[in-house]
Amino acid sequence: MQGTLPQSKQSSEIDSKIHEKPQRNKYDIRLEYDGKNHIKAEMALTYVNNSSAPMKELYFHLYPNIFRDKKHLPFFSWDLHLVFPDGISTGGIDILEARQDGEPVEWTTLNGDEALKLTLKKPVDPGKNSKIQLKFALTIPRANYRFGYMMFGKDRITLSLGNWYPLLAIYDGGKWSLDKHPAFGDPTYSDISDYTVRFTVPQDFTVAASGALQGKSAKDGKTIYTYSMEKIRDFAAALSNNYETAEDFVDGIKIISYFHPEDKKGGFMALDIVKHALSVYNDSFGKYPYPELRLAEANFYAGGMEFPTFIMMNTAKYKEPYLSSTSFERSTAHEVAHQWWYALVGNDQINEPWVDEGLTEFSALYYFEKRYGQAGRESYFERQVDANMSLIKGSKRKMQDPVRLFKNNREYFAIVYVKGALFYEDLKNTIGEEKMLDFLRSYFDTYKYKNVSFNEFIEFLKQKHYPGIDDGFFKKWF
Ligand SMILES: [Zn+2]
Repeated sequence: MQGTLPQSKQSSEIDSKIHEKPQRNKYDIRLEYDGKNHIKAEMALTYVNNSSAPMKELYFHLYPNIFRDKKHLPFFSWDLHLVFPDGISTGGIDILEARQDGEPVEWTTLNGDEALKLTLKKPVDPGKNSKIQLKFALTIPRANYRFGYMMFGKDRITLSLGNWYPLLAIYDGGKWSLDKHPAFGDPTYSDISDYTVRFTVPQDFTVAASGALQGKSAKDGKTIYTYSMEKIRDFAAALSNNYETAEDFVDGIKIISYFHPEDKKGGFMALDIVKHALSVYNDSFGKYPYPELRLAEANFYAGGMEFPTFIMMNTAKYKEPYLSSTSFERSTAHEVAHQWWYALVGNDQINEPWVDEGLTEFSALYYFEKRYGQAGRESYFERQVDANMSLIKGSKRKMQDPVRLFKNNREYFAIVYVKGALFYEDLKNTIGEEKMLDFLRSYFDTYKYKNVSFNEFIEFLKQKHYPGIDDGFFKKWF
């Protein structure tokens, strides 16, 4: 699909594909939001068995159930006040019904309710597909988190809707990847799919979501928003009765910034940063292939959070002093870079988080250098590298370690992000900027819409036979 296609052409292309055999999983979700903390939803998944084995069972992640009760919370005790500034709040996802091609199927939850197992009546053979229907209800916790709502004033509410629906787990090498949600870091590992999500919300609510907005209509005092997109690996949204928006275009891509009216300055700044970052990355890594990108002020204590064609940015980042430092700009440029590294070139974010985070952080540094020259580069080094150097030197962790081995968020950030960016700096300085960009474009072309492992990345780099990228180089970093 071409990123610059107008919406009408896109939908007619989607229509003409209805009768073709599906190539990948397709999620069709309809949900109704009550304006506070409850959602009812129906999901129809066209499951395509792209493995070589007949599939008798399917496994899904039920991420909202980390909030099921106090003992399920994955967070460290010292982070609880950040996740729950208004006191601990619980929530979760309840599966109400499961069907295969209209017939009820047996289901059960496991992994502390963080996973759902469906036992299929009709196994799905390799290359075949089957329609799975799930009905579910969400209770959203009052949490400053990717899945959580926060109140702003007496009746203003903003809801972060990330990791919220049953997401089919990855099946690879004969097994399902069902890692539990970590205390920090990102939880997902998923395949490219097609999505259509229809939101019915109280009429004063605005929905910002992944994909392209296909339609907005009013019915019975409610507003219906339909978003859809082909070839994305996850779908998230932010809902609020406190949003204003600003739009711009770059390289034919529509950018929309959603913000609380009291944070207008940050909302426009976000739009400007996204515009410049998209332009730098389009020129450097290869073109962003979708027609739209949204960034929404929402709730997530850790800062920004990337989703395909959608970014959540924590409301605190829109306040001084973040705006006057490079904090807001670094986070925004970082999340935009994730559209290339994670959203398009996918990886296992729990077991090999460096694969996307290291390159994404390097991309943020590259943005500062391209936009502001030497001064931008220096400000990045002062703020990120110098401030983290003692942590980097004092840590026993390797960059490619899984999230669970890191002591805390600070060590994780220093090693996986900052040291990760320094690896790419060293690579760039060794082979030269021109070859570096050739390498990144070739990596992007080879792995976009796929998942890549750490070992595949290393092999891919080795096969380029760049002078100076030898065993000594790899030994120094890994
Ligand atoms: Zn990141």
